Amino acid sequence: MKLYLVTSNENKLREISLLLPDGIELESIEAVASHRDIIEDSPTFLGNSVKKIEAYMDLGVPLLADDSGLVIDSLGGFPGVNSARFMEGSSYFGKMSAILDRMENEQERTARFICAALFYDPSNHSLLGVEGKVDGTIAKGISGTGGFGYDPIFIPQGYSDTFAVLGDSVKGRLSHRATAFRRLFSLVCLCNEKA
Ligand code: IMP
Repeated sequence: MKLYLVTSNENKLREISLLLPDGIELESIEAVASHRDIIEDSPTFLGNSVKKIEAYMDLGVPLLADDSGLVIDSLGGFPGVNSARFMEGSSYFGKMSAILDRMENEQERTARFICAALFYDPSNHSLLGVEGKVDGTIAKGISGTGGFGYDPIFIPQGYSDTFAVLGDSVKGRLSHRATAFRRLFSLVCLCNEKA
């Protein structure tokens, strides 16, 4: 079965491609449809993930969507669902520097990445959804070159380096996205077996 991921983020496509079980192929939606603007104004990751699915439902192909972000406790959950849109147009170095400045004297550095992942089956118009998260802390500085987005400031629980230092193998084991999509793919396979 071929699934189409609603994203223009190549890093997401790459990370999810590494998790595919036998029998499932993945391609970007941009391989079969031109870009469509999606207004991600839901207050929840799940709500924004639904918006991504709705934007391409008319194509009648199986879809996957992922809405995700970084939630920092001492900043009241910021940047949360606005992780991509915070300081839009600035580099991630600029965004991360701004966050670190806001947390300069902050001792409480707990944070988590959250991912709401959805599968849309056009044969029966059903949606399957799961959430994944990874707990950790915000580093004191920016380090590492792997991953994307806020990876250079996020240290997953149990480690002393950022996701950007630890790289794909650690991220592929314990990230919010890896947890969510592993769960989602096992549900998709289970439903296919029963159909
Ligand atoms: P989305 O593409 O609308 O889901 O926005 C996700 C945004 O959250 C990304 O652009 C990043 O800013 C942030 N984000 C989500 N997942 C990750 C991750 O795995 N590493 C680093 N940043 C992430």
